[in-house]
Amino acid sequence: MNSIEKYLILNDSVLITFVIADTLAEDVMKIHKLSEMSAAELIRTLTLTVFAASGFKNKSDKLSVIMTFDDCGQKIVTACNGSLRAKGYLTQTSHISYYKGNGYDTGMVLGKNGFLQIIKDTGGKMPYSSKCKILTGQIYSDFAYYFTASENRPCAIVSGEIIREDKVKSMAMIAEPLPDCPDEIITVIEDILTNFKDFSAMIEDYSYEEIFEKHFGHFDYKKLESRDFKYECDCSDKKIDEVILSLGKDEAFDILEKEGRIEVKCEFCEKNYIYDKEKLTGLFKNDN
Ligand SMILES: [Zn+2]
Repeated sequence: MNSIEKYLILNDSVLITFVIADTLAEDVMKIHKLSEMSAAELIRTLTLTVFAASGFKNKSDKLSVIMTFDDCGQKIVTACNGSLRAKGYLTQTSHISYYKGNGYDTGMVLGKNGFLQIIKDTGGKMPYSSKCKILTGQIYSDFAYYFTASENRPCAIVSGEIIREDKVKSMAMIAEPLPDCPDEIITVIEDILTNFKDFSAMIEDYSYEEIFEKHFGHFDYKKLESRDFKYECDCSDKKIDEVILSLGKDEAFDILEKEGRIEVKCEFCEKNYIYDKEKLTGLFKNDN
């Protein structure tokens, strides 16, 4: 199951969003060859990337997330569009697992030095880019800090992942007080969130509906939205042709001569595009 579920609670003053990304997590495991820990890092980032894109008004809007961690050299790159088609990869694929409670302690591996950058392209002249420092390396709290510091959207985020042979799951919950939310309601929400320390254990046993019902169901609430999303790469022969064409005929044939063929691998879906002499000649046939 992949879905985003949004609820308004307490007289429309707080937005509660669940991002359930079980199928996306399975797809990440199928596409990329990752250790459990590296998979947790990518799945967590992707789950929150989908949340960041869920506010887009147009299907063609898109955003990219780049997280760089100086201590270990990890770089995580994800993207999602307004149709909620998400993709991602990371450079360090074999991190060793650390746990805090039942969850992955990504902060232990990633460290606290680095940057989280989000680039949004909503069809304007220039994409909008904003960057903030990594705070904890836990990814969910780094996103929360980004939304608060860069977008003036204070929120609290929890996230959990289960990555086992028999079960792969991912869920994030975002609690966001809307503008003019009274302070006493913020205090109530902060108090409830103290129960969310071990979210991975929670998602092992409970569905998002059960979690919502248990912790927020006693308040007045309304369901705002339910949307599907999925992992999907939009690379194509045509796009890769353009990359090869941009090399120029001389350089392309130079590589062909040295390597025997040109291989381009899409980092998001691991698909290999191969250009032999015949294909390359066809591609550059109008180029003299
Ligand atoms: Zn691809």
